[in-house]
Amino acid sequence: METNSDVLIIGGGLAGLTAAIHLSQNNLKVTLIEKSEFPKHKVCGEYISNEILPYLKWLGADVSELHPTNISKFEFTANSGKAATATLPLGGFGISRYSLDNFLYQKAVSNNCTILKDNVTDVTFIKDIFTVTTANQILKAKIVLGAFGKRSNVDQVLNRNFFNKKSPWLAVKAHYQGNFDNDLVALHNFNGGYCGVSKVENNIINICYLADYATFKQYKNIEDYQQNVLYKNKHLKAVFENSALLFDKPLTISQISFEKKQPVENHILMIGDTAGLIHPLCGNGMAMAIHSAKIASELILEYYADKCIVRNQLEKNYTKEWNKHFGKRIAMGRILARVLTNKTLTNIFVSLVASFPKILPEIIKQTHGKPIAIN
Ligand SMILES: Cc1cc2nc3c(=O)[nH]c(=O)nc-3n(C[C@H](O)[C@H](O)[C@H](O)COP(=O)(O)OP(=O)(O)OC[C@H]3O[C@@H](n4cnc5c(N)ncnc54)[C@H](O)[C@@H]3O)c2cc1C
Repeated sequence: METNSDVLIIGGGLAGLTAAIHLSQNNLKVTLIEKSEFPKHKVCGEYISNEILPYLKWLGADVSELHPTNISKFEFTANSGKAATATLPLGGFGISRYSLDNFLYQKAVSNNCTILKDNVTDVTFIKDIFTVTTANQILKAKIVLGAFGKRSNVDQVLNRNFFNKKSPWLAVKAHYQGNFDNDLVALHNFNGGYCGVSKVENNIINICYLADYATFKQYKNIEDYQQNVLYKNKHLKAVFENSALLFDKPLTISQISFEKKQPVENHILMIGDTAGLIHPLCGNGMAMAIHSAKIASELILEYYADKCIVRNQLEKNYTKEWNKHFGKRIAMGRILARVLTNKTLTNIFVSLVASFPKILPEIIKQTHGKPIAIN
């Protein structure tokens, strides 16, 4: 049967765009479908681990062109005001998703990927071929990558387990102007959630927090909630009071699920958040999205190059690699989130890491990867 491309990618966030660049660079015909326009702001802490730098350079996407901030220090504070600091083992950089996603999009376009602005409404797999239906057309492909993020209508179409379970988490993010150290990423705990603060390009401060809906809904609006709940942490109060909002209003998303997902479903290889979301307090979701795109792309290239590899083998290999690289990190993220959203445990945690400063970098290492090796 005739197909429109070798690989069809659903979703043009970091995972989808990275895979599009990697596969097209190796002469596969790629179609990517993204429902939103570029550039666009996204709810994200925008601190990204340096582990992905060698790989992005190898792809010809050198992010230093975007003038990110270099981040080397980490501060953690509890609602009580107790604080602990550490040097980040690998370090990272601060860049807005507005710039980063658009940068990768431009790179994918220049690699001759076909990028369609459309909404995928259905995916079926019959006789070894996928049929992907969008609002405007029907496309066929032998391989489909699911890169549709943490929650999408496609999850519902595929009847994925996590979709029907209600999640208590929502997130709020905005850019601000003010004073904040360029080289610092701070994680401030508050009752019912935690808030990341760091700088991105152009001296802009990103403030992004994850909040428990049960606590949030007791207040009439975001401002009210922040003043009554987040300001209880004196460090966060100082950050907000010394910053001016640059957006018209903060961006919000809800139903953020940290439930287990499968890296392959209905023969679709899932990459980025579509395969599993790590708690944002780990600051590693973006690096994982990019890394999972690399792993999937390499296996797809092998599949197309070697006629002996069958689909079943491709799926098994991807599942194995995904679990090897990300399984433990996600599990560690879940444990940390449980500790750091509990008042008593958080205070014990901060006292412990403040007294034994070597512990914190070791914990950070458990949620991060090593610099991505290029073969
Ligand atoms: C509050 C919060 C803070 C975070 N902070 C950090 C941080 O500081 N550092 C870090 O590394 N990670 C952070 N993360 C995680 C990070 O944002 C994600 O891991 C990352 O965005 C994953 O990229 P992705 O490509 O998988 O998904 P996304 O970037 O969400 O991209 C998915 C794309 O799919 C598109 N799409 C969905 N459905 C369809 C459809 N039907 N048809 C067409 N297109 C579709 C969407 O429009 C979207 O563009 C944070 C997450 C949250 C929730």
